[in-house]
Amino acid sequence: MPKCFLCQLKRSAISGACSQCLIDLPWNTSFCQQCALPLAANGVEFCGQCLSYPPLFSMARTAFCYQFPINRLIMNFKDKKNPALGKSLSRLLGRSLCHDLSLQRTPPELLIPVPSHQRSLDARGYNPAQVIATSLSKILSIPVRHDLIIKRQPSAQQKELTADERRVNLENAFVLTANGSQVIPKHYRVAIIDDVITTGATANSMTKTLLKGGIQEVIIWAIARTP
Ligand SMILES: [Zn+2]
Ligand SMILES: [Zn+2]
Repeated sequence: MPKCFLCQLKRSAISGACSQCLIDLPWNTSFCQQCALPLAANGVEFCGQCLSYPPLFSMARTAFCYQFPINRLIMNFKDKKNPALGKSLSRLLGRSLCHDLSLQRTPPELLIPVPSHQRSLDARGYNPAQVIATSLSKILSIPVRHDLIIKRQPSAQQKELTADERRVNLENAFVLTANGSQVIPKHYRVAIIDDVITTGATANSMTKTLLKGGIQEVIIWAIARTP
């Protein structure tokens, strides 16, 4: 019997977790169709922010709301050098995406993880978004490329900034590499992969760079969305 990665008990597990644990997770089941912001289940399709100032990406999907125990698990994945935990979370994201009608109808042709700045890469030893993208690529059989876009400036202090300051800081933070300008077919729908969507500013800035490079459509997939 496999061990559930959440309760560590030997129980029959789907995507690495037992059915008891799966039920208790904060799945993001009712959300804004464009930015994945968790919404009350009252038939509203879009959040106020997306109605007034829609982001450049056409759609975002996350498996979870950024709540306990998912927030704790993502922190352990990112800060405790535990890439295996990231793979387990990716399996649950893959499972949730497989149930999403939009993915079945119009799947992306390419996955691109949000690039890490060299400094965080050196400190952590891996880029969390890349761990997720590589796992998803295997689960969904969609190619992944991490050499097409780079981050221009360090964003280590992002956590301490306000939403407005983040937006300004992130303007033009990403740039296509020589490969990025050449190898992505223009008709492609590209999925940007991240661990958590907070304000959506990172995803939007990266989307801007990809759209400027001629990519037709950009969507965002992440493990969790903050409320
Ligand atoms: Zn369990
Ligand atoms: Zn929204």
